[in-house]
Amino acid sequence: MAATLLAIDQGTTSTRAILFDLRGQPLAVSGRELPQYYPRDGWVEHDPEEIWRDVLATCKDVLAAPEGGTVAAIGIANQRETTVVWERATGRAIHNAIVWQDRRGADLCRRLADAGNGPGIANSTGLVIDSYFSASKLAWLLDSVPGARAAASQGALAFGTIDSYLLWRLTGGRVHRTDASNAARTMLFDIGRQIWDPDLLALFGVPAAILPEVMDNAAPFGGTDRSLFGRAIAITGMAGDQQAATIGQACFTDGMVKSTYGTGCFMLANTGDRPRVSANRLLATIAYRLGGRATYALEGSIFNAGSTVKWLSDTLGLIKTPAESEYLARGLASNRGVYLVPAFTGLGAPYWDPDARGALLGLSRDTGIAEIARAGLEAVCYQTHDLVEAMALDGVPRPAVLRVDGGMAANDWLMQFLADILGVAVERPRHIETTAAGAAFLAGLGAGLYGSLADIAATWTLERRFEPNLDAGERAGRIAGWQDAISRVRSRAVPPKSEDGP
Ligand code: ADP
Repeated sequence: MAATLLAIDQGTTSTRAILFDLRGQPLAVSGRELPQYYPRDGWVEHDPEEIWRDVLATCKDVLAAPEGGTVAAIGIANQRETTVVWERATGRAIHNAIVWQDRRGADLCRRLADAGNGPGIANSTGLVIDSYFSASKLAWLLDSVPGARAAASQGALAFGTIDSYLLWRLTGGRVHRTDASNAARTMLFDIGRQIWDPDLLALFGVPAAILPEVMDNAAPFGGTDRSLFGRAIAITGMAGDQQAATIGQACFTDGMVKSTYGTGCFMLANTGDRPRVSANRLLATIAYRLGGRATYALEGSIFNAGSTVKWLSDTLGLIKTPAESEYLARGLASNRGVYLVPAFTGLGAPYWDPDARGALLGLSRDTGIAEIARAGLEAVCYQTHDLVEAMALDGVPRPAVLRVDGGMAANDWLMQFLADILGVAVERPRHIETTAAGAAFLAGLGAGLYGSLADIAATWTLERRFEPNLDAGERAGRIAGWQDAISRVRSRAVPPKSEDGP
């Protein structure tokens, strides 16, 4: 039988294992929901043992499928930035994993920003100082768990994002490595020089002895311990989830852009072989590193995309299923001036305004459920437009095509409106499991099953293309309405624009 690839997709709310053939076709899937822990306001944790248990169980499930015996290599895609510290001797974590959404590092980040560290951090890591990234979470663990800093200095502890932690467990505690795309999200890694930045390690008080070795995205990471699956399987691919989706969408040339619409939305634009530090609060990051050569991306994230639809259904009870939003939106000729700004947890790129809160604007006596549902969907498109504009200001040409995936990409009305608002064609691939597919492709590349990225690109197949079809004046009017809505929810922390002044 032909060789297959096993992808582990360890996400924020679920863990999945998917078996793929070399054309990127899923053959078997197993998934589990991951419990979330909220010990305090703004804190979010995962239990690393639960993550490991789910990874092991889902991998065993798919390995038991008829094609399970043909797995040639394993690839890992993971929730990024989430931070784990464990004992090298036992593999036990010294604390729950601190999840990317967790804000406990916010004070430290604010102090460092106030002290003028922003430009230096942006130049080295490509990132905006924020507790979203691993550095302040790791500093918190070293400061707050008794004895942690001393043990770390003595080399007794290991730090990793979820990829490293899983690799350690999969290899029976033999291998402490990560990949360049995950390292790029720690706020400790110099993405130009491709090294852990000694100045940032000093700034955050992180001993070098705790850090994993940084590898290419397709590389011999290690083999699984024989006791786990009855044989050693090579782990040869690894990437953070959004970078894995970029691989899955075959965005391999400068200027190609993908946008993933799940709970939140993440847009990545391939910017070629040099990091492009953003002047518009986007993130510069490593898209992938192969053969020692990094390819960079600009990234923009929207915190609330599908979560807005979930809010409409689960919290407000206005719709029964996410798919119903499509039917309601389609029934209206326009939004009738209603805008929903879903800043439930602040605004992401390009605003980075954690204190902004959401608003529903333009209500009239005949505003109904359909207008509100449509406004929720439209908001996703306007926010994507904000990202594309910010990227354009950073010198990334407006893309000819946007490749989309994620749960919301199933909504045809939304995809058409997206094309209309962007003025760009939107392409939806046949397989929208792009994150897991990306991990599998990297594993295949690392195992020598693909000769080059062109072999991977050849597997990408179009399912449907949405062409922009909206009058320019109307488009401009709708966008102006959105910009007005956004200006009303920004927090006062934002310096007022001159026209707002007294
Ligand atoms: P995640 O990986 O972040 O959990 P998914 O990619 O599985 O997210 O997408 C799930 C999200 O997509 C949910 O928030 C859901 O509300 C939204 N969603 C799913 N189907 C539709 C639809 N037809 N229209 C609009 N939103 C949808």
